[in-house]
Amino acid sequence: MSSLSNKTVVQKYGGSSLKNVTAIKKIAEKIIKTHSEGFNVVVVVSAMGKTTDQLLYQATKIIKNISSKHNRDIDMLLSTGEIVSATLLSMAINSNKLGVNSISLTGPQAGIKTNLNHGSARISKIEISRLKKELSSKKIVIVAGFQGVSQTKDITTLGRGGSDTTAVALAAALKASSCEIYTDVEGIFTADPNIVKNAKLIHYLSFEEMLEMASLGAKMHPRSIELAAIYNIPISVKHSSKISKGTIIKSGIKKMEIREVVTGIPTERKISKITINDLDDTPGVAASIFMPLANQGINIDVIVQSAGNNGKTNLSFTLSENHLNQAIEILNDSNKINSKNINSEQGLAKISIVGTGIQNQPGYAARMFKNLAGAKVNIEMITTSEIRITCIIKDSDIEKATNTLHKEFFG
Ligand code: ASP
Ligand code: MG
Repeated sequence: MSSLSNKTVVQKYGGSSLKNVTAIKKIAEKIIKTHSEGFNVVVVVSAMGKTTDQLLYQATKIIKNISSKHNRDIDMLLSTGEIVSATLLSMAINSNKLGVNSISLTGPQAGIKTNLNHGSARISKIEISRLKKELSSKKIVIVAGFQGVSQTKDITTLGRGGSDTTAVALAAALKASSCEIYTDVEGIFTADPNIVKNAKLIHYLSFEEMLEMASLGAKMHPRSIELAAIYNIPISVKHSSKISKGTIIKSGIKKMEIREVVTGIPTERKISKITINDLDDTPGVAASIFMPLANQGINIDVIVQSAGNNGKTNLSFTLSENHLNQAIEILNDSNKINSKNINSEQGLAKISIVGTGIQNQPGYAARMFKNLAGAKVNIEMITTSEIRITCIIKDSDIEKATNTLHKEFFG
């Protein structure tokens, strides 16, 4: 098929930007404006406001325990939220006086093929012929985000927040010149603006940094960032109604050798820690702890194992507070662990400094620890990656810790 003559942009609008019909009409005007500038415009929408939560809530009123046998129905149900947004937005565009036309498409109609992993399906391929046909006839194409169709012709969803991934995947398939994510915050900040009053908007971020910064302002589906990195699609995150430059996430951001390498201080609250003492220091022990947790979909974060002593070792790890009780039940059932050796602690938080090149600059860890000590914040666990240093601290210390580190690294 011939390539499109104009540049293509993909714009994604989140549920918070599509709260009601008035908001939808405003967005329609914005989209028409982009189209009038000569672009091919593909718009990806999320469900309006809290629609997805409400649909799930309705489901739980009928099915008490959602099990895998309901997955197909749940996906059908949840996919309707995005379809409502797409149709209403298309109506708003089609009723304009300028003669601009649009067409609404479900994920399957837009050619989005996925595997059959209901609830967290992955996109396998995008059949772009329909999209191209509609764009060639100068229509604005509105695609319902977060959904696709499996080989068995079942509707699937991509996981909560998945419309971001739809947008980036479409941008990649259509070789779009940009992918714009519109949301209800101005972009990504140097710290959580609810904790640090003078947190600054970050103008440029690398994909790697963005993956670590999920908590700082705009939240994006992590798979969308991975996909954008693979296809090298620059993403811009912007406020849907305020005029602001927003944050651009892209590769190849150059920083000279002398620079402040810290780009942000992400924090996460409601974290718990489990410690297992007196474990046998033999091969397979860690696997026997983490496999059953993984099988139940429990995400483990920071893991620290102490050096072995007399054939015994201790292991600590953090997880979300919501999963603590379930995790303890699973560990209690394990025949490798003596239940009396399992201890847990709630009310923790995670604070990190993130920036490309952190690992090559030994001074940064020391500065972080020194400033936390100065603020009398006790560090319970430490981990590092190439671009991040993370400390687990008491949740009650998070305001103090974040503000202290923000002052140190951003003034
Ligand atoms: N509506 C879905 C959700 O709430 C997908 C999305 O918003 O991206 O998770
Ligand atoms: Mg979202």
